[in-house]
Amino acid sequence: MRILTTREELLDARRGLNEAAGIGFVPTMGFLHEGHVSLMERSAADNEVSIATIFVNPTQFNEAADLDSYPRDPEGDAQKCRDAGVDILWMPEIPSVYADDHSTTVTVGGVTSALCGAARPGHFDGVATIVCKLFNLVRPDRAYFGEKDYQQLAMIRRMVRDLDMQLEIVGMPIVRDTDGVALSSRNKHLNGEQRAQARSLRESLEAARVAWQRGERSAAALRQVIRARIEVEPLADIDYVDVVGTRSVAPYGDAIIEDATCVAAVAVRFGATRLIDNARLDRPQPVWTP
Ligand code: AMP
Repeated sequence: MRILTTREELLDARRGLNEAAGIGFVPTMGFLHEGHVSLMERSAADNEVSIATIFVNPTQFNEAADLDSYPRDPEGDAQKCRDAGVDILWMPEIPSVYADDHSTTVTVGGVTSALCGAARPGHFDGVATIVCKLFNLVRPDRAYFGEKDYQQLAMIRRMVRDLDMQLEIVGMPIVRDTDGVALSSRNKHLNGEQRAQARSLRESLEAARVAWQRGERSAAALRQVIRARIEVEPLADIDYVDVVGTRSVAPYGDAIIEDATCVAAVAVRFGATRLIDNARLDRPQPVWTP
């Protein structure tokens, strides 16, 4: 595996690749866990060359403290990438990514209106812009994203379609710990009590899925099932609970859901740590552990 840092090194390496070789791409912010690794292994399996990036993108953080405390482990990450079959790892510093006078922003409408788009103003502009830049630098045939960030995945699919970007977006299932908590770099910040109570995210989604299976189609009632489970936990502070269309990511509000599918999504704070999770209500949720 080659580890590159500057923009020129990456462009040079990309120019040296055979155009006919399938190129897979996994963008991340590092502090890698089995969720990231699942994307990298799939990229390595599907493509002749697999490229990953680790870049904590400052423009997608709303809170300076969240950016400053974002966990980092470059050496451990490099080893995980190597083990997962990554051929080229790009770990740039900020000046290799953004010019001092960078002044272009990519905004994807529609799918970004609700959930994290509403809760974190500017966040998805930061994500869309960096992903667009990385696609232009890496020029992959396929890029891999986790369903854990459901709205992000929907936004990237929309951006690729709307802007005619010539690559395939592959969505990968949420990887969870044995207790059902979705793996996240931010889990590191949870203390024991918070971590135990974080199980309520998945359990609340599972309760909604059971309600859906029994025929509940009122979006308000489904939200209430989810809230009721999370509110049991004294340390859990709900940011949002919503039920949205799988493609539109539009909330159903107080409607009776007539679609055959929908997604329930939650964001919950435990102290300063904000966790997100989601589930399709029409499908069983296998707990996929490493
Ligand atoms: P991040 O480093 O948090 O920006 O995540 C990089 C990629 O890994 C994104 O496509 C995420 O959706 C994906 N990812 C993060 N956590 C998980 C998880 N638990 N399961 C599957 N994919 C994940």
